[in-house]
Amino acid sequence: MIVAVDGPSASGKGTLARRLAMALGLAYLDTGQIYRAVASKVLAAGKDPADPAAAVAAARALSADDLTRPDLRAEHVSQAASIVAAIPAVREALLGFQRSFANEPPADAEGVVLDGRDIGTVVCPEAEAKLFVTASPEVRAQRRHEELIARGADSIYARVLEDMKERDRRDESRAVAPSRPAPDALVLDTSSLDPDEVFETALAFIRQRCGL
Ligand code: C5P
Repeated sequence: MIVAVDGPSASGKGTLARRLAMALGLAYLDTGQIYRAVASKVLAAGKDPADPAAAVAAARALSADDLTRPDLRAEHVSQAASIVAAIPAVREALLGFQRSFANEPPADAEGVVLDGRDIGTVVCPEAEAKLFVTASPEVRAQRRHEELIARGADSIYARVLEDMKERDRRDESRAVAPSRPAPDALVLDTSSLDPDEVFETALAFIRQRCGL
């Protein structure tokens, strides 16, 4: 059983995907971490994330340890992740790992939840249940801003909103695997829903789709 949870940053898709995996006893993969790890490796090597040769080399050399690099959530890594993610050969190099995880879940899990941008459209178009979680850019930027402040970081709302719009633009307009809902996805706008409402709606949809 494969559940695809796609959507833009700070839409609530990560929280939702993790909660669904727990509730359904499924393994969970945050595919954004993989693109972030590639970006972090390229930056650590002093290379340009837009350089296809450097980005593809980092993607091919990716190891499990890279998924725990300390800077993965930093804003400059988020931006670099969306730059490497627009390079078709990088996406191609990362496809096998994501599909293996989906088709052969670790340990005794009955299936998987993958979250990302193109899970329902490209990585697992055969997924039984597909969700596309979104919210207005203003609401998402406010959430990210509050998260940063709570962590004790300096944050300016207008800057967060601008960075978010820039990343959305790049992710939605790239030629390969642009971020968009699959035709058979349930689109959940979380702008005015609380996390429990989002979770209950998603769970009911998955149960109905998978006959649970
Ligand atoms: O989801 P997250 O914000 O961690 O993803 C970081 C970046 O990785 C995104 O902005 C996007 O460019 C890229 N990504 C992608 N496809 C995925 C997951 C993430 O292109 N399946």
